[in-house]
This record gives sequence, structure tokens and C-alpha cells, in this order.
Amino acid sequence: MKISGVDVKDLKEQYGTPLYIYDENHLIKNMEGYLKYFKSDKFETEVLFASKALNIKEIIRLCKKEGMSLDCVSKAEIYTALSVGFNPSNIYFHGNNKSYDDLVYAIENNIGVIVCDNLMELEQIEVISKELKKVVNVMFRMNVGVDAHTHKFIITAHVDSKFGVLYGSDDYKKIMELIKKSKNVKFIGFHSHIGSQIFDLNAFSAAASKIVSYLKDFDEELQINLGGGYGVHYTDDDKPIPFDIVSKTLINTVEAELSKQNIKIKKLSIEPGRSIVAEAGYTLYTIGYTKKTPNKEYYFIDGGMTDNIRPALYQAKYDCDIVGKENAKKDHIVTIAGKCCESGDLIIENYPLPEAKMGDLLITYTTGAYGYSMASNYNKALYPAIVFVKDGKSKLVVRRQTLEELIEREI
Ligand SMILES: *Cc1c(COP(=O)(O)O)cnc(C)c1O
Repeated sequence: MKISGVDVKDLKEQYGTPLYIYDENHLIKNMEGYLKYFKSDKFETEVLFASKALNIKEIIRLCKKEGMSLDCVSKAEIYTALSVGFNPSNIYFHGNNKSYDDLVYAIENNIGVIVCDNLMELEQIEVISKELKKVVNVMFRMNVGVDAHTHKFIITAHVDSKFGVLYGSDDYKKIMELIKKSKNVKFIGFHSHIGSQIFDLNAFSAAASKIVSYLKDFDEELQINLGGGYGVHYTDDDKPIPFDIVSKTLINTVEAELSKQNIKIKKLSIEPGRSIVAEAGYTLYTIGYTKKTPNKEYYFIDGGMTDNIRPALYQAKYDCDIVGKENAKKDHIVTIAGKCCESGDLIIENYPLPEAKMGDLLITYTTGAYGYSMASNYNKALYPAIVFVKDGKSKLVVRRQTLEELIEREI
């Protein structure tokens, strides 16, 4: 099996397993796709990579090269971006509980936009920006009452979300008063993020229509950020919408809402995370022991929940193959289990695969998002390496963690 012309068996020889592999051309295709189709002649557009899906230097360098902006949700994500010279004015800083220290760091480093979550945060930003004598661009995260964390979306007054502010609420009114008075906070628009792995674009239309209606209260042209959440293909149960259609539909929807409500905006942004990196990523494992229990057959791999927590965390489904046996008869129904001391440490359950031998390689697909970024050292598993492959060449972008590094902070 080859990925972008590189034989995965050679990758195993060179870098060992477990190993995260990214097809760089696929990453570039995704980034360029959004940038190409997310365009309007009615307002400026901007595509941000929601970096929590994979916040590593090499991806950030790629975003920089391709002209993507960046969404960060912690000081450390910002730190990583700045460490490779990413332009701070193209960074949006998210989060519902940014500390004083986080905000000072962001404001001192001239981060482009702070996406403020609540009244108390705004008060904090006001104090810090005054102290530091800076003018800070602030967007507000709104709870638009659209919840779409699954294949279906629900429009309810999802009033108790931990994220965002409800339009018209007491807090909202206080926020608007403070913004009007403040000389250091520059209010630039509204943000919403309604969920993840969404397949129904109507959910975004519902959110867009709400946000556009909030703009009626303002004379100046503001900015809308519709967040991310575009679904990807993990298994054939998922029917993702291609980025050109996602982009064009969102643009058309917002343009239509604006003309319907007779409102103009300055800029529209989106923040895809998963849909940029997920399908470009693979995880390569070595199979160790196999075993049969009365009702199950197990193939044990040398990684597991420590490099991919998603199956244990939310029953996420994946496809996989045994390398070199992709077309062999899949006459075993097996469960792929990791090596952690947790019964829930399963990557794939009851999946048809061919007979495996110890030392065979197993590859899982669509593991590029929220795999490495949610990895852990449970059982003192070492963080795997990450390689990028492109046109027959491979390059190491994250080195495998060593035992020394693992205990280096222990006193
Ligand atoms: C997580 C997140 C995203 C990206 O979501 P994906 O499902 O990975 O596309 C975008 N914006 C915000 C605010 C987020 O929290």
C-alpha cells in the first residue's frame, strides 16, 4: 500500500509504529479548495483553520503558505503558531474561560481577534487592554439556539450551552453598553459555532439567518464568523458534502439572508478544522497477538486509545485494512484493541478483516483530526511520531517521544 507514492512498509521501517501519516497533497487540496470556493463579490471572505484539530508547527507553516488564518483556543496553541512566525493579526482566539494570563499573552502579542464568550471575559479584556494601552478587536460568540452535533440538527432555544451569549439577554445588554463606552475594545462582529461533524447545511443557514438579524442594531458594517463543523467520511455511513459545495452554499445563504434583511457586512469567515485534516491522515500500527474468546476475535495493536481516544470517548467509527491484504478475503470478524489497561481501549469493533499474523501492519483511515491533538501518555505510552508524505518522499514533522522526555518534568 502506498500513500502519495510512499510505501507504508518503508515508513514502518524508517519511523516505527504507531505512526501518524499525513498526505501533504491532500492537506493542500483541502486548504486550497476552501480558499478557492469561499469567495463573494459582496463582502470579504476568510478561511481559518481550527487548529485544535491538529496544532503542530508543520500544519501551521502550511496554513501560512496557503494563506489561511488560524483559530486557536489556548495560549499554547497561539505560542506554537507564533513560534513558526505566523502573523498574529491572522489569529482568532477562542474559548469560554480564557484566564487573565491568557488574555494578557494574546493582547501583548497583538492577536488579531479575540472571540469573547461572556460578559466577565469582556470586562477582563477591557481592563487589560486599558492597562496595556491597546485597542483590541473583539467578536462575540453568540448562542444562536441551533445545535447540530450529530447528523441531524435541532433548533431549540438551547439556552444552557456553556458557550456564547443569548441575543437580547441581560448579559447581552450589558455587553453592548460596555462596548459602546469602551475606547480599548473594538467590537467587530458576531461568531457562532454550532457543532461538529455536521452534514446538513440547513443548520448553518439557520445560524446565519439568526446572526444576520442581530446586525440590524448596528450602523457600521460588521463581520460574521460561522465557525466550523463540516462533516467528513469516516465510514460509508457518513456522506460528507464536498468543500466547494459547502463553501458556495454558505456564501449563497449569507448573501440571500443579507439581501432579504437588507443588511451589509464587511467580512464572512469560516473555521473548518476536521474537514481540513481528517481524511488526509492515517494511523499505522503493528499487530501483536491475536486471540479468540467465546464470542469475539481480537487483533491487538501497539497503540490504541492513547493515540486515538475518539472511539472510547464517543463511539466514533473507523475503517481499516491490513497492509498488503486489502484485497484478501475478509472472513474474520474482529475487534481491534489497544494495549492500555482499559476494556474500552478499542479502536474498531466487529469489523471484517482477513487473517492476521503477528507483525502485520494495520492502517486506520481518516485519523488526521483530533487524534494526535487528543493523544495522551496513559500507561506512559509515548507520543507517536508524525510524518508527512508527498510525491514519493517522506519527512518527519513530529519526532516520537522518548522515555527521557516522558519523565523529564518529574522531580
Ligand atoms: C472546534 C471548533 C471549530 C472546528 O470544528 P470542526 O468540527 O473541527 O470543523 C471551529 N470553531 C470553533 C469555535 C470550534 O470550537
